Amino acid sequence: SNQIKVGIVGYGNLGRGTIEAIKQCPDMELVAIFTRRAPENLSINEPNVEVLHISSAEEYKDKIDVMILCGGSATDLPDHGPYFARMFNTIDSYDTHAKIPEYFSVVNQAAQENGKTSIIAVGWDPGLFSLNRLMAEAILPYGETYTFWGKGLSQGHSDAIRRVEGVAGGVQYTMPIDEAIEKVKSGVNPELSTAEKHQRVCYVVAEEGYDQAKIEHDIKTMPNYFADYDTEVNFITAEELKENHSKLPHGGFVIRSGKTGRDSKQIIEFSLNLESNPEFTASVLVAYARAAYRLNKEGQMGAKTCFDVAPGYLSPKSAEDLRRDLL
Ligand code: NDP
Repeated sequence: SNQIKVGIVGYGNLGRGTIEAIKQCPDMELVAIFTRRAPENLSINEPNVEVLHISSAEEYKDKIDVMILCGGSATDLPDHGPYFARMFNTIDSYDTHAKIPEYFSVVNQAAQENGKTSIIAVGWDPGLFSLNRLMAEAILPYGETYTFWGKGLSQGHSDAIRRVEGVAGGVQYTMPIDEAIEKVKSGVNPELSTAEKHQRVCYVVAEEGYDQAKIEHDIKTMPNYFADYDTEVNFITAEELKENHSKLPHGGFVIRSGKTGRDSKQIIEFSLNLESNPEFTASVLVAYARAAYRLNKEGQMGAKTCFDVAPGYLSPKSAEDLRRDLL
């Protein structure tokens, strides 16, 4: 077939989302999923998709056009990125912002040496938000850019709540503060700290007979995580936690407020409201997999970021169709 043959490395939230995203793309075919765990223990029920140990990936060099790396940024991708870029065109969602230059350089070397194309750090932040920050700054050189996150479930802060004495379970959402967004949109270019832009809202299940006031105090005064923020603590039942808080929502806003000419206010806004962060991020990865395949065919090798990939490469439509339908 002339479908793009795709592989997935890592079967976590993002890996699962990628399986679903590929199903929505008739020009792509999922060939295999590679994992570090024993493949037979992962009950993956996908007809025509092989589930294999990561050590056998090399045998698929000629059977897979693009490998989508779905490992975690902290410890998986620093190994997987350069390792797979030697054998495959790759896509990943590396999101440790401060280390992106370093990561780019090792992946670039591996891909260059082997004639592969690797698009790194795609997703929504880094990714779609980065693209919007870039465009907004290029278009409005006089101005300020603001990024707000949320409503979003924060894994790190949820873990912190669960370590508090007397807590049986809980989640934390980061919420953008509406007044801060309104202020930014009014064009006054306020100076705002992260804490002035975001509120932390917690849903907590207390252990039976435990003093809720003490739990609330312990959470609100926790240094680094909550003490500097406006933190709200709500107590709920274990059933409510399971029923209403088991999805992984996220999203946010990128807003640039600038001025042109004789003091004309110009506001650019881009926002996402995501019911499932991993499913959405996976959908971005899959669109970029199409781009990596095409760039490689054209001989554009090495590491790239979303800044280097022209938007037309993401679409299954031809350049001609895009000019007719979407321009
Ligand atoms: P997970 O923790 O769900 O999965 C990471 C890896 O852990 C998997 O690839 C899998 O590898 C292993 N794993 C998963 N579940 C289990 C388990 N039950 N037992 C043992 N191992 C397991 O992470 P996510 O998929 O949620 O996120 C991956 C990365 O995506 C994040 O680190 C983040 O950096 C990035 N991300 C980026 C975004 C962006 O906008 N750029 C947005 C969202 C996420 P294996 O199968 O080999 O065991």
